[in-house]
Amino acid sequence: MQTWPSHPVPRVPGTPRPLRLYDTATGEIRPTTPGPTATMYVCGITPYDATHLGHAATYLAFDLVHRQWLDNGHDVHYVQNVTDVDDPLLERAERDHSDWVVLAMRETALFREDMTALRVLPPRDYLGAVESIPEIVEAVAKLLSDGVAYRADDEQYPDIYFDRLASGHFGSVSNYDADTMAKFFAERGGDPDRPGKRHPLDALLWRTARPDEPSWDSELGPGRPGWHVECSVIALNQLGMGFDVQGGGSDLIFPHHEFSAAHAEALTGLHPFARHYTHTGMIGLDGQKMSKSLGNLVFVSRLRGDNVDMMAVRLGLLSGHYREDRAWTDTVLDEATARLARWRAAVSRESGPPAEPTVARLRDHLADDLNTPQAIRALDAWAADEGSDTAAPAQIRDAVDALLGVALPGWSGV
Ligand code: ZN
Repeated sequence: MQTWPSHPVPRVPGTPRPLRLYDTATGEIRPTTPGPTATMYVCGITPYDATHLGHAATYLAFDLVHRQWLDNGHDVHYVQNVTDVDDPLLERAERDHSDWVVLAMRETALFREDMTALRVLPPRDYLGAVESIPEIVEAVAKLLSDGVAYRADDEQYPDIYFDRLASGHFGSVSNYDADTMAKFFAERGGDPDRPGKRHPLDALLWRTARPDEPSWDSELGPGRPGWHVECSVIALNQLGMGFDVQGGGSDLIFPHHEFSAAHAEALTGLHPFARHYTHTGMIGLDGQKMSKSLGNLVFVSRLRGDNVDMMAVRLGLLSGHYREDRAWTDTVLDEATARLARWRAAVSRESGPPAEPTVARLRDHLADDLNTPQAIRALDAWAADEGSDTAAPAQIRDAVDALLGVALPGWSGV
């Protein structure tokens, strides 16, 4: 699948700091320890609706991970999927009497534009579920032949399920107790009451073809893949086991990331799937979580349509810490817009305070589990001060561009 355009990232003088990041599996902030090539998989969208600010905040957080690794001299192999066939997409297409393929193409195109406008560095591999079906089929067939997957006891629709205990590490990502697992499994796309399963929490690997649903012929019989195995297979094939960071919103911790890991671990006999599992908080609006069921989504594309400065949106979303559930309000946007104006004025001056101590603070804060609120405060302090260093404004501009991804004057734009 086509990814979106990249842009040059300036090199920042001085000493980079190794990135420390919160890991959901261990509950600790731990150093990331990439080799020459750092590896990251972030779950992509299901393209039935436009990108809202909750999605944007997630991709911005992992864009900062990407940028801190680049600053540390790593090559970065970043992989993202598009769940371009799944129930929510098919349901939306049916509701709107539209072609699900065209709906997915349209929303994926809009997502690329949103990511480009927000200056999110693109993944190297951007892969759809549909184009990955042959590889997913191969993996499901292996799980079946290894005896860790089974067909539901259902003559008409013998869907294939995964025995959740097969990897021996089930629960090691989320650390949730049985009640919490049961609650989230039911709320987040699971099918605990489906007759014919051996255990309510076993996850769908392959859905046998139903009338009026898309399906693909395969050695498993005609059908389509489950969601968790899609991400397992794409990550495994592009990055291998033990990649550096698996990312997504906190609503993906369970069942999605728990099962993606369990599938891959059962397939390979290796553990762990990822060395860090990192999750972002939810973005709320007016005191409520932003969600499609509440109808209170703020779409990036709509803000673009209203000519809102995307760098102010980026800065506004980064003004809170990525792990916190936080609110999007007019005040957040107004403050970010005013801050951006102050920073732009400051880097347009003929001189300023020396850049080096501020860049060092910026790096220290970002390396500390992406502490963007503190990083922003360090830049506010620099912008509010005066000095005679004529090189400083350009150095700060480049550091803000490279490390925070916020473009100030001097950037030619996309
Ligand atoms: Zn995923």
